[in-house]
Amino acid sequence: MVSCNLLKKIMMPLLYILILSCFLVGCNLTHLLNPTTSQSSQNTTDAYVDYFADNAFGNPLAIIQHPAGVHVNGVTYVSYQGPNTHPLVAAYHHKKQSWFGPVQAGFSDLATVFQTRGKIDSHGKPTLLIDDLGYIHIFYGGHGAGAKYGKNKYGGGGLGRNKHAISKRPYDISEWENLDNVSVFGTYNQAIKMDNGDIYLIYRHGAHRSDWVYQKSTDHGRTFDPAVSILKHKQRADIKATDSWYIWASKGQGSDIILSYDYHVCWLRNEGPKGLGHVTQRHDLYYMVLDTKTQQLRNISNEQLPIPVTREIAEQKTLVARTGDHWTFNGSATLDKQGNPHLAINIGENLGKNTGGPKQTHYYYWTGKEWSQGQVINPTAKHTNTDTRGDFYINQQQLTFLLGYKDNDDGVIASFTRQPTNNADPTFIKEKELLRRAKANWALTATIENAHPDAQILVAEKQANSQLHKIYLVGANGPIPRKAAEARFNVNSSNQN
Ligand code: ZN
Repeated sequence: MVSCNLLKKIMMPLLYILILSCFLVGCNLTHLLNPTTSQSSQNTTDAYVDYFADNAFGNPLAIIQHPAGVHVNGVTYVSYQGPNTHPLVAAYHHKKQSWFGPVQAGFSDLATVFQTRGKIDSHGKPTLLIDDLGYIHIFYGGHGAGAKYGKNKYGGGGLGRNKHAISKRPYDISEWENLDNVSVFGTYNQAIKMDNGDIYLIYRHGAHRSDWVYQKSTDHGRTFDPAVSILKHKQRADIKATDSWYIWASKGQGSDIILSYDYHVCWLRNEGPKGLGHVTQRHDLYYMVLDTKTQQLRNISNEQLPIPVTREIAEQKTLVARTGDHWTFNGSATLDKQGNPHLAINIGENLGKNTGGPKQTHYYYWTGKEWSQGQVINPTAKHTNTDTRGDFYINQQQLTFLLGYKDNDDGVIASFTRQPTNNADPTFIKEKELLRRAKANWALTATIENAHPDAQILVAEKQANSQLHKIYLVGANGPIPRKAAEARFNVNSSNQN
């Protein structure tokens, strides 16, 4: 009888040859290597896995800090939160099928929170942008900075300075320098490059009780103009709470930036549901447009809005949908070819938890005359009342969502496409399952800027027993593989500062 070891000795070179030949002819390893095979063969230097790193830390990815990745000149550059909340950047060369990095691109103040209190503050996960000269920028580390960094003109609270790092050379992630040129008070960075190369950084200027602002750069991010407030936080007169907001900003047509947002009623201490004070109570969906040429805000009906917009103005002029008793978690927005906005937002019942309860991704769009009724993307998740999160894109008028959700005990990443319909209420069907892992919860990014079809989003597989997670670059064919020996950082990375 052939021993197990002997069988392995015979089989491993064969597997190596198979993998090598497969790469030479360019077939997709994702379909060849099932998860069991890839994990059991991790100990050989020649094996491949379908994640590119295993050191994503805490809640390492989110939709709101975006873009987290950019595809340019055949390379997809990605960023995520690494050990101790420091920002990491990696790059994948599509033609060579080779990975570089991750490289630590800066030092986050929020590492101190983890080191001194053992608490992971994931608000400062990186946002990545590549300027017209090819330099790669990341914005990271911010969660309001706090009063010790001076007076916050547009809000307050928080800790962790917002920082900006830039690659030393174009299209090269190996070395970085810090540029001390954006407000330290920023949280939830969203970076947009306009057609003329101007860069807009949009963020919340502090913790919850802060305005949303933008800063503009006309020199490829080397300097930024002072912050301009566009959406105002304000103490309410009718209840003991402060108006607060979550924005998702992205490029619109021409000189426009589109903004979708939801409302956070930020209860004062001991106020609100059960006297819990601040809980993540959020409602409703809003939409407006910033014209960067005129620096004016307008609503969907082209009415000019005062700057900054207050809750009263938002409700009168920019409302897309009321969610009633249900709570929200904001999603993304994009335009179709005609310039009509399409919006995603996560909505769920309030079950009395601090977070309300699970929320499912819903879709709204402007028909040209009015806002559509909201449609749930994955009805099964609504039925079982489990969370879904994700982003979407429009390609040749086909609208596709990429969602992460739970299917019983498995975590699944799958695409859902909008079905052609003559009425105003489109339905979605699940098109393709891209990744499935037992017991996984997902953290996902927004879709990668100018995405290659093979590399559309980053997802991190969060397992309950670990602070460090496997991270995948996922596209239409599933995750992009990497040599197992190259993808393992976990052992060394836990000791990084
Ligand atoms: Zn709050």
